[in-house]
This record gives sequence, structure tokens and C-alpha cells, in this order.
Amino acid sequence: MRVFVSSLFHEGNSFSRLTTGVENFSIVRGDELLKKAQGSSSSLGGACRILAQSGAEILPGLSAVSAPGGPVEDSLFRRLRDEIVEAVRRLQPDGVYLDLHGAMITQTLDDPEGDLIIAIRNAAGPGTVIAVSLDLHAHVTPAMLDGADVVIACKENPHTDYDRAGERAAELMVESLNRRIAPVTAATWLPLIFGAQMETGRGPLAVLHRRRRELLAADPKLLDISIYNCTTLVDVERGWQCVTAIADGDPEAARAAVDTLARDFWLRRSEFVPDFAPLAEVLADVAAGRSEKPVILGDQGDRVLAGAAGDGTTIIAELANRWPMLRAVVPVTDPAMVKAAQQAGLGEDVIRPLGGGLSKGITPFLGTWRVSRLGDGHFIHAGPYLRGEPAELGDTAVLRSHNLTVLVTSLPGFTQDPAAFRSQGVDLAEQDVIVAKSGYHFKISFADIGRCIVVDTPGISNYRPGLLPFAKRRPVYPEDDVQEPDFAATVFDRRIA
Ligand SMILES: [Zn+2]
Repeated sequence: MRVFVSSLFHEGNSFSRLTTGVENFSIVRGDELLKKAQGSSSSLGGACRILAQSGAEILPGLSAVSAPGGPVEDSLFRRLRDEIVEAVRRLQPDGVYLDLHGAMITQTLDDPEGDLIIAIRNAAGPGTVIAVSLDLHAHVTPAMLDGADVVIACKENPHTDYDRAGERAAELMVESLNRRIAPVTAATWLPLIFGAQMETGRGPLAVLHRRRRELLAADPKLLDISIYNCTTLVDVERGWQCVTAIADGDPEAARAAVDTLARDFWLRRSEFVPDFAPLAEVLADVAAGRSEKPVILGDQGDRVLAGAAGDGTTIIAELANRWPMLRAVVPVTDPAMVKAAQQAGLGEDVIRPLGGGLSKGITPFLGTWRVSRLGDGHFIHAGPYLRGEPAELGDTAVLRSHNLTVLVTSLPGFTQDPAAFRSQGVDLAEQDVIVAKSGYHFKISFADIGRCIVVDTPGISNYRPGLLPFAKRRPVYPEDDVQEPDFAATVFDRRIA
């Protein structure tokens, strides 16, 4: 068995003023990819472990991982796609495994992963088994399900199980290659969007995933059931909720499972209501000693991990104006401030407005800042989320003003991981409050450091009906009055093709 592996990871924001270019990606190839995969909690890592155990020869392609953000530059996407497709054409492997986020957008493409999978299918031919694992926030499309034999999501948010999703996709590929299973997929899309109650361990999604597991256990023909909660910030056609099931040679079994789960999902559509903590209350509790220190705050409105630019100043302003006794570190994307700090030099003062240069509706925060560190913004994720993955914040500056420390980054970056701060010289042990531009994954990566709370801050990634000018994604609940959808699943059966 010769299996080609690659990964392409980016979650889009259609409303961003920024584009995502090569500087936003960490790209590795060949042996370097295999080395990275060994210690990684990514889906690629999980898939490589199963493939190695199965005795497959792994043919490493490229791995390109970016933090979420604005559309990927068309030329960059074409370059990455063509490199993967040409390698598949040249190698003619028995199997192709892809670790994709699934909600990438480019300047002109709404479904670049579908485009990639179809191009790989055309290069590989009909007999090659293509298996894909996606983030559960993927915008899963008919093109993806048409082109691949196996497409599955991770099942948990925060994503503690990327590696398990990669393992499962690889297991199903190996079983297919050995002719022990013949996967067929059914999928239903629900015109529903939401930005709250998105964790799978509590609330409506916990109930739906319990039902998912029951359905999976009840029918041995079912190989996987996935629930996709399409990321909120992409404006794409049918950027909806999607339920898929894969059955061994039995389209009706897949269809029945999808139908049951999709109806349950639709009936719960009004339960996805925000319950984020008020910022001032949380800080008052910390200041009064009612809350153990440090607390780690997820900045709901400015989540880079949902595609926001990370230039929000709500929490900085609140800390500086009302809670100056709290020692706090806040990340802010502000490339001009990094340049100013580099020009001023270590130990010097910089007086200029911070943040707000990249997104609409943000008031920059004016302060006098002492430059205490300058860095290159490169770090390796400590995990558990994305453990082992390299990441880029662009050049950084650590600025101090009284008790406030700001980690200023040139790029919107992954700050849901303690390594983002420590690598740039921030001492987390001396903080009362640590801010992450994340709503979910920081909870697992900061769990050992303190209590993690998502605070209700304004911004593009704190979804409310009417907040975003969706065009392609409509009609969709709760933006519009939507009639009960047609639950009839579409079947994707490559045995017929
Ligand atoms: Zn996700």
C-alpha cells in the first residue's frame, strides 16, 4: 500500500479586510512532514500512525497550516494545490489521505478544498482511495463528497480529537484498500447558522452527539456519523449545518441515520443562544479575590481562531481604565506598532494608539508603552490542541505599561496556546489575567494554568442575527424566516460512479 499524505489548514473569514498569504502559513514537506507528524496531535499525525501500523508506505507531500483569517490569496492556493496534485499524478499512489480544515476560502473560490479533492481525483484516477478528515467547523460540500471515498469530521469542540479523526479516516482507507468495506455516504444540509452553544460537551450539541453515538452503535453497517457546524464567518452558498453518515455498502442505512439526526438538530435550532460571561463581572471577581488567579479570558468578539483580525481593544481598555491593579497580558495584532517598537528599541517608550487598524468599529487604545522584548513570532504549539505544529505570529513586540503587558503581533496568530506567549518572552506566572483570542481551544491548552472563561466582548466573531452582511449564505435561520427544510439526504456512492 502506497499512501500519499498532505495537509492544508485554513478557516476563512469572508468579512475580513485582510488576505492570507504565504507569511501566514507554516509549510513543511517530505521528511520534515513525517517528523512533525510523529509528535503531533493533528489529524495528519493520527493518520500517519495508523498508516505506519498497517504497513503502508507513506509518501509525504506538503503540510501548510495557517491561523484562521481572510481569504487565501488565489495565487498561493493554486501553487499549493498544484504541488499536491502534481505529486499525486507523478506517484500514482493506492491511497491519498488529506488533513483539511474544510472551511478555507480564497479570493475567488468558496470551496477550494472541493476543488483540490476533485483535482486529486482526476489526477489519481477512479481506483485510488481518497480519505479526508475535516475540522467539524468545515463547510462540507457535494464536491468534497463526490471526489473522496471517505470524508469525516472530528467530533469534539474544543478539538481534543483531531488525531482520532485522522486515525479513523486512515482506518477506513486501509479497510477500503483491502476490499473489506465499500463506503457510501449520505448527507443532509440544514439552513441554520449559530455562533454560541458550540461546545460538544454541553448544551444542544452534547445532546446531538449522544444521539449520534447511539445511532452509530445501533447499526454495525454504519462506519461514521459526522456533524458539521460550518464556521460562522464564511459567506458561502449552503454554508449550513451538515450531517453525514458513511455506511458499508448500504446507502439506506446511511440515509436513515442522517435523516434522524438532521431532524433532531433542526428541532433544537432555537437552543443556540449566547451565554458568555460579562467582562466587567469577571474582572471584578478577580480584583476582589473571589476568583482564583490567574484567569484566562477568551475574547469572544475578537477570536483569531474564528477568523477575526485580533486587533480588538475592548479588554485592554477595560483593564486599563477600571482594573489597573490587575497584572494582565493581552495579545493584539498591530503590525505598525511592532515596527514602531523595533524602531524605538528595547527599553525605550512608544506613544501611539494600539490596535483597531485592521477591523471596522474598533477604537484604538492610546497609551505610553515601554518596549520590553522584540521577537520573531515563531513558536511550536505545546498543545494539546495542535501540539507539535509550528506557528507564525510575524515579528512581535512585548510592551509594558504599569501592570499591563501587551503581546503585539504583526500577523493575526494562534494565541490559544501558552507557547505563543512564552516563546516571545512573556512570563505567564506573574499574571492575574491572561487573554487569548480564542473561544474554545484555549480551554484545553490553558487548563493547567488557570480557570478559562469566555467573555462577552463585541466584535465580528461574537455572532448575533443581523451582525454580518451575509449574501450567499441566505436564506438561513435565524437571519431569515426559513421553512422546514427537506431532510431527504443526498447519497454519494462511488461504487456507482
Ligand atoms: Zn474548528
